[in-house]
Amino acid sequence: MRIEEELKLDYSDVLFRPKRSTLSSRKDVNLKRTYRFKYSGNEWSGIPIMAANMDGVGELEIAENLSDTDMITCLTKQHDVKKIKKFKKIKSIYKNIAISIGIKDEDFKRLDAILKEFSFIKFICIDVANGYSEHFSKYLKSVRDKYPTKTIIAGNVVTADMAQELVLSGADIVKVGIGPGSVCTTRIQTGVGYPQLSAVIECADAAHGLGAHIIADGGCTCPGDVAKGFGAGADFVMLGGMFAGHDEGGGKIIKSNGSKYIEFYGSSSDTANKKHYGGLSDYRSSEGRSVKLKYRGKIKDTISNILGGVRSSCTYVGAPSLKQLSKCTTFVRVSNQFNDTFVK
Ligand code: 5GP
Repeated sequence: MRIEEELKLDYSDVLFRPKRSTLSSRKDVNLKRTYRFKYSGNEWSGIPIMAANMDGVGELEIAENLSDTDMITCLTKQHDVKKIKKFKKIKSIYKNIAISIGIKDEDFKRLDAILKEFSFIKFICIDVANGYSEHFSKYLKSVRDKYPTKTIIAGNVVTADMAQELVLSGADIVKVGIGPGSVCTTRIQTGVGYPQLSAVIECADAAHGLGAHIIADGGCTCPGDVAKGFGAGADFVMLGGMFAGHDEGGGKIIKSNGSKYIEFYGSSSDTANKKHYGGLSDYRSSEGRSVKLKYRGKIKDTISNILGGVRSSCTYVGAPSLKQLSKCTTFVRVSNQFNDTFVK
């Protein structure tokens, strides 16, 4: 047994240190980024925030709204040719969607069928809870061999060594985060995890050294956390909970005590397993929870609020664009992030 003594940090452990700046208004901050990906060679431009491939979030109607500001949506694993065909506007948003798969044979077949029908889609997201298995790297290699011109996202991992391993196995973009998610119970069920801010800093450094990119996936609770993800070096920040609870997610609105709620659940929760796979296998336990979120209306308002926050973070640290945010970032370690007197 060994203990690593160095303290690792979460978003809530730090704040941006404000810096003198010549920017006069947050309106002037440019949030768009342009990336060229290591293996696919594809170029993408947009605001590098992504919707997670979770029920109620990774949906086509959410994608339609996020795509207006060129943000990406990773569609849930329940999207097949039939479902995508029904959505008539696919051609106008295809640049900003990713097809998500796991590592089962049927996932590979579904991907194949989708990319045959919609060959213009450019992103593949290979998503497993634990990206540390040898089998996962091999599988990633086989997807890379089959689709040399697609931009491949792979994860999740939280350490530099494995971020490098995934890049060397063919990932253009590594997805980073184990256990920080809003409806994730992995840390409770298994005791496994890594504080998200440190995971992002360390994996970004490793992936960038190899000419690849990373996504900070999970753990953002407010626009300030999104900015901290970028400040830490993330190329993309992925959101589940912050994009949940809206009309466009398609969830059923539940009325209770005069308020409206929408159910939101982890992809490994009992609810998700029952819904999609006929229940949990005997040898597994649920690693996600199911919650009732206050209904939040249209997603456009949430998007504006997030982008407004990130723009403002940039002005506080003197970054004229999102591209410069990380260079302009000095984090201060804190023991108290904000005054919660009136927060329930
Ligand atoms: P959030 O933005 O809600 O904090 O985190 C979203 C991320 O949580 C997702 O992109 C995914 O990586 C992770 N996640 C989603 N569902 C589950 C789950 O049931 N269990 C675990 N361990 N992680 C989940």
